[in-house]
Amino acid sequence: MSYKAPTEKDFSALQSFVGKAYASMDEAITASYLSKSVMGLESQIPDIVLRPKYVEEIRKILVYCSEEKIAVSPISGGLSGGFACPTINPAGVMLDLSRMDRILEVDEENRYAIVEPGVTIGRLWAWMHKHTPDWAPPIPDGAPPASTVMGDAIDRGFSLYTSSVGPQGDNFMCAEVVFPNGDILRTGSWALPGSKPFYKYGIGPDMWSLLMGSQGAFGVITKVAVKIYPHPEFKTVVAWGMSNPYDMQDLTLEIQKQEFGIAHNTVMVQGGNYPLIMTRWPKEKIPQNYEFYEKIGISKWWMNFECWAQTQEELDYVTDRIDKMAKDYKENRAKDPDAIKKWELHPKQIASRLRKPNKIAIPYSFYDAGFLFITWYTPWNECAHFSEMYCNAMEKYGFPPTMWVASIERGRQAICMPIICFDSTNPEDFERVQELNRETTEYGLEQGWLNYRPDPYIHAPLTYSKAGMYWKYLRAFKKLVDPNMIMHPGRLALP
Ligand SMILES: Cc1cc2nc3c(=O)[nH]c(=O)nc-3n(C[C@H](O)[C@H](O)[C@H](O)COP(=O)(O)OP(=O)(O)OC[C@H]3O[C@@H](n4cnc5c(N)ncnc54)[C@H](O)[C@@H]3O)c2cc1C
Repeated sequence: MSYKAPTEKDFSALQSFVGKAYASMDEAITASYLSKSVMGLESQIPDIVLRPKYVEEIRKILVYCSEEKIAVSPISGGLSGGFACPTINPAGVMLDLSRMDRILEVDEENRYAIVEPGVTIGRLWAWMHKHTPDWAPPIPDGAPPASTVMGDAIDRGFSLYTSSVGPQGDNFMCAEVVFPNGDILRTGSWALPGSKPFYKYGIGPDMWSLLMGSQGAFGVITKVAVKIYPHPEFKTVVAWGMSNPYDMQDLTLEIQKQEFGIAHNTVMVQGGNYPLIMTRWPKEKIPQNYEFYEKIGISKWWMNFECWAQTQEELDYVTDRIDKMAKDYKENRAKDPDAIKKWELHPKQIASRLRKPNKIAIPYSFYDAGFLFITWYTPWNECAHFSEMYCNAMEKYGFPPTMWVASIERGRQAICMPIICFDSTNPEDFERVQELNRETTEYGLEQGWLNYRPDPYIHAPLTYSKAGMYWKYLRAFKKLVDPNMIMHPGRLALP
């Protein structure tokens, strides 16, 4: 499959759709989009950046690019970095949707908010805090405030309610999407004109789920309705430490398997190992041995339970039950009972954990200039196996074994995220990262684990080559809506 490099003539046609001020071929502008790259290593500088404001502008751009066979990569906030940038050369058009930034409606009775792609998580959080303080949106807990609600939905990310209600894709009800064939589709109950976005499966069969994880490879989503949840006053974080990932996994599963009551109150359940603390500081300024962290009261592994409740009484009940269950686990079933202990967090630690967006993941760039999140889904009761395997592999390749794990939908799945801290000024380090990535991906796929936000050179081809029939239907759908395959080529191995 080959694509056309846009010419001056193409540029002036595209410019006429959005206006002079919102189109650029200037390399100082186009190259600046690469600087956001954190989570994907393979990115190309776009040839043209367009910043549309209206749905009709997007439709014209897609139809034109489809006819001319010019690749188009959409971004909302662009904060998934290399994953949003083009992956091929000629890179074509980058569609920057940040000007489409209206919060169209917040319905507290039906509990949804309707937003455009450019609505950032920081803005929606602040807007609701001011105007609808009893309700809050499911923003990705650790993502930068400039990332968007839409981008996280399409990526099927994890939000601050993930442990209680499921992956971010599940929080979205209905969407409006523009396809390169010129069609504008509304999914769910929105398919029926005049209907509220109250039922995602709509007139059925459900098409919205086909767009989840599409990473810009099918069309451009221009509106979504996202569920909102109560934002009660009574919150805290309970943390338990342990010496190994198996005790972390098993204790957490016992609590999450309660399902009703306390498991629903634990909105965000996330943990990991002590290098998570170490690698948030410049490498040369902090000790690298565990003894230092042990002295300051940090266990080798731990799990945080962020609890939200409607009353103090309810919150006390939840935290009490978690502590009782942890003690029972320690006394009766733990692999290393002596190491299981409550981590008494300082009120400032609790307050910083409860802050949203908490920006907690940003400092990983301090350790060694660059970092990469590589994210996998496993069944919860396999996250310890994953963690052990991945930490060993990171050490084998000379990286600190930094591992973060969170529960999705009350421990039905685990999202496991090794954070690879590497020297992005050293080209050899990029190769080491990719070697590690390939070796662990081959192993992970053999176990039946899934990479989400697949990278285009390692995860996507390896995964789809094992799932040929699935890929066949995915490709057929893409052909239907994007006949010339212009949307974000390479992203999902389609092509
Ligand atoms: C430091 C850091 C911490 C993070 N923490 C979290 C976290 O806690 N939880 C979490 O889930 N994620 C996290 N992320 C990942 C990411 O930032 C979020 O998922 C974010 O919400 C993505 O939004 P975005 O607008 O930046 O997406 P973008 O980067 O703009 O896009 C994401 C993908 O969707 C496609 N896309 C974007 N908009 C559209 C559209 N309108 N139509 C069609 N396709 C589109 C893009 O092509 C791309 O493939 C983190 C990232 C960083 C850098």
